[in-house]
Amino acid sequence: MKLIEHFIDGKHFVGDSKRTSKVFNPASGEQSADVKLASKNDVNKAIDSAEKAFESWSNKPPIQRARVMFKFKELIERNADELTKIIVSEHGKVFDDAKGSLQRGLEVVEYACGIPQILKGEFTENVGTDVDSWSVRQPLGVCAGITPFNFPAMVPMWMFPMAIACGNTFVLKPSEKDPSCSMRLAELFSEAGLPNGVFNIINGDKEAVDTLIDNKKVVAMSFVGSTPVAKYIYENCAKNEKRVQALGGAKNHCVVMPDCDLDQAVNGLMGAAYGSAGERCMAQSVAVAVGGIGDKLVEKLAKKVEILKVGPGMDKKSEMGPLVTKEHLKKVKNYVDMGEKEGAKLVVDGRNLKLQGYENGYFMGGCLFDHVKKDMKIYKEEIFGPVLSVVREKNFDGALKLVNDHEFGNGASIFTRDGDVGRTFSNKAKIGMIGVNIPIPVPVAFHSFGGWKRSLFGDQHMHGPEGVRFYTKLKTITSRWPSGVRSDPEFVMPTMK
Ligand code: NAD
Repeated sequence: MKLIEHFIDGKHFVGDSKRTSKVFNPASGEQSADVKLASKNDVNKAIDSAEKAFESWSNKPPIQRARVMFKFKELIERNADELTKIIVSEHGKVFDDAKGSLQRGLEVVEYACGIPQILKGEFTENVGTDVDSWSVRQPLGVCAGITPFNFPAMVPMWMFPMAIACGNTFVLKPSEKDPSCSMRLAELFSEAGLPNGVFNIINGDKEAVDTLIDNKKVVAMSFVGSTPVAKYIYENCAKNEKRVQALGGAKNHCVVMPDCDLDQAVNGLMGAAYGSAGERCMAQSVAVAVGGIGDKLVEKLAKKVEILKVGPGMDKKSEMGPLVTKEHLKKVKNYVDMGEKEGAKLVVDGRNLKLQGYENGYFMGGCLFDHVKKDMKIYKEEIFGPVLSVVREKNFDGALKLVNDHEFGNGASIFTRDGDVGRTFSNKAKIGMIGVNIPIPVPVAFHSFGGWKRSLFGDQHMHGPEGVRFYTKLKTITSRWPSGVRSDPEFVMPTMK
């Protein structure tokens, strides 16, 4: 059986831990590898390696760091098909979707190539007589990242290219469910000329995470995953005086107004609810039908959900792949059982789908619920599977209140032809990322990604300008070079005469 190790100091590293976890191909249900689960000692080795590399890497002129980024970008492009196949083989999503997610990660690398321009500070000559002042952004030190299973390339790439371009060194702990893509990215980054120790990968579980939290040499932590773990990371990193951004779960609403182009909304919802089998933090899992549009919306959606092409990710005809693990598949199906018990109307039931030749794969069909109420668990909780709930609301104000009352605040969309409604929704929704006639409003690399409420603990979003702020510290220098005339001491607050 293939063994996935760690990547420390520019090479594969087996470590001293005896613990491993199984990695599966979700389409076949077969085990494809064992992955090492790091011991404390293994994690500390990775941190030490990153600490050793920091001094020299942080002192490299930004243009030299950018050159490594350019080379890394080229290598990702050249190896895009191989990386995509790795994503499909361990996560299960369909090939083109996996490739799209890699592309979104690559765009962060492209943004990071511009680091010399991005890191330019501010300068004011003569803030007072003969006094100049300027601000610079300096790297922090050893940064760490912990990532979820659903985007094995893109989410790690929200973090480490920005951190490293800013002059930090990095330790990544990817999801133990699909760690291989990160490992390949580390090899490519090394090949691009990144010095040893600047980017390290530690595979593991809670033990590895807790070691990263406890080790004082790690000064900043980026986390993406479920809300309970995000909160745990946020609180414990803060206790250990680390800078932290911890992105959590979501329940994204799509408000469908009666005046909208319904076919556009339905197509948008299909991709946003069932793409990647609903395993996206920006998946739309709630459609809010406003006014009298509910019956037509459900009818059109049901027709499409029934004919969704479910199949293995490598089959070009597949629109939706399997779920990531057997346990996750079971959990999602349990939610569907619960929804029925709670009294929602199950319009399309995908629970019993079986695929010939893939009987052991983790497949299910799309599910569609109508008449979901806001006190039901299937509405309140994140299901993270191909299950869309339709909630009916009388008017726009009711829909907006529903969105704002939900504990999560990652993304939300509205489909309408009314500019006033679109603008009011953008302005009033307590949500981090809004789409107007856009089903999945994931910001591009040179903007920043992040939710509100219990979808993000911390202050800064990921990548784009916020990523740069997170991975650097601001320093402001005020200086005077006396021109021969010495002044007497002053005891009042300087006001820069
Ligand atoms: P998860 O929280 O189970 O795991 C995320 C990471 O934390 C993994 O690396 C895992 O090994 C580690 N981990 C798990 N349990 C832990 C524990 N008790 N203590 C310490 N570390 C632990 O999440 P997941 O199932 O891999 O991913 C799905 C979740 O991620 C969903 O809730 C989804 O919404 C969320 N997500 C959010 C965003 C966002 O941008 N907000 C993006 C992608 C995914």
